[in-house]
Amino acid sequence: MDTPNGQCGDVRIAENLANVRARIADAARAAGREPEAVRLVAITKTFPVAAISVAISSGQTRFGENRVQEAESKIRELAGPQQLEWHLVGHLQSNKARKACELFDVIHSIDSVRLAARLSQACLELGKCVSILLQVDLGHEESKFGADPAQLLAIVDGIAGLRGIHLDGLMTLPPFFEEPERVRPYFTRLRELLESLESERPGCLGLRHLSMGMSHDFEIAVQEGATMVRIGSSIFGARTHAH
Ligand SMILES: *Cc1c(COP(=O)(O)O)cnc(C)c1O
Repeated sequence: MDTPNGQCGDVRIAENLANVRARIADAARAAGREPEAVRLVAITKTFPVAAISVAISSGQTRFGENRVQEAESKIRELAGPQQLEWHLVGHLQSNKARKACELFDVIHSIDSVRLAARLSQACLELGKCVSILLQVDLGHEESKFGADPAQLLAIVDGIAGLRGIHLDGLMTLPPFFEEPERVRPYFTRLRELLESLESERPGCLGLRHLSMGMSHDFEIAVQEGATMVRIGSSIFGARTHAH
């Protein structure tokens, strides 16, 4: 029987993690890429600290949350000798910029110069440097956040002068399709956008990360060049409530 915090649940998480890691490595090799080029960010939203601790015991160090408030207590509880890297993958409200800078190492959801400027100011005040990714809206869904691809270069240029933050790449959250293969064009497009930014500003940007792919479609994302995959339910199990 599975209990969320019991022995069976623990074994399940460890097995799931091993399985996801193996699938990432297989997808990378099949695409002629190094498995090490793909970072696994374990998405822990809605899951308790006990579940995260099991993943840490299995060697996982990169974790992602999608809400600043929910993340705060978990990050503080898990603070310890292990070097964990915390990623914010959900929308950031500008009034939470300071807290986000305090808590996170990588923020995947920057989508405007204004938000980047707020974060930059907070990071300067805290004396911290945070890695950021620009979230790109490729699906044009009302409920989703992200920058319009047509605005990307202007946003990148606007962020370039900001201190305390470092722009490292792009992120996208495509629409959900039953058939994962239908997501591929969104991943291809994100890679092409990164390549085109690099060619517009040769040698200046150093964008190296593509954050794309979730439980449902990460192998396709890896084939298309993902360097960070954000995986929750394949590791921790189904979430009991929408988030
Ligand atoms: C929840 C979430 C994920 C992980 O989704 P799974 O389907 O559970 O793997 C990835 N990215 C973002 C932005 C999320 O909110």
